[in-house]
Amino acid sequence: MPEAHGRMTVVTERAGVLQIGGALDETSGLVELVGRAVEHELVLDLGGVTFINSLGVRDWIRMQAAATKAGVHLEMRKVSEPVVHQLNMIVATRGTGSVSSFYAPYACDACGREESRLIDAVANAAALQKMEAPPMVCPECSQPMAFNDFPERFFSFLATS
Ligand SMILES: [Zn+2]
Repeated sequence: MPEAHGRMTVVTERAGVLQIGGALDETSGLVELVGRAVEHELVLDLGGVTFINSLGVRDWIRMQAAATKAGVHLEMRKVSEPVVHQLNMIVATRGTGSVSSFYAPYACDACGREESRLIDAVANAAALQKMEAPPMVCPECSQPMAFNDFPERFFSFLATS
């Protein structure tokens, strides 16, 4: 059963691994999630996050700060596109955590299919550091899909400074 935190839902996949869904706003209470870390590790699966407003961003930054203060390493996986946009726009949202995988927009020129595809940020680290989109094959027609955004903009949150 998912727990409701306002319009956000939390499912405990296993101890220290939480699946987050829905909308992040001032009612999400993200800071308290830091207390669910196991041995200073907390994994947030963000694949189900559909929306984040400015108050949600503020709560998110507080969560990042609380994790850093508590010495908790935050791993963000399956980061959805709405969250990627915040990570790109507001540097403070990145905190000291790491992103292991994230969704990115792809489109197939051959059949017109548009889809958010999961990118493994660890396996593709070298290409992503060069702001190159990993190749994807269309699940519909097996033709190569094209990255459907500006790579320099969409992947900027991964840039190591
Ligand atoms: Zn296609």
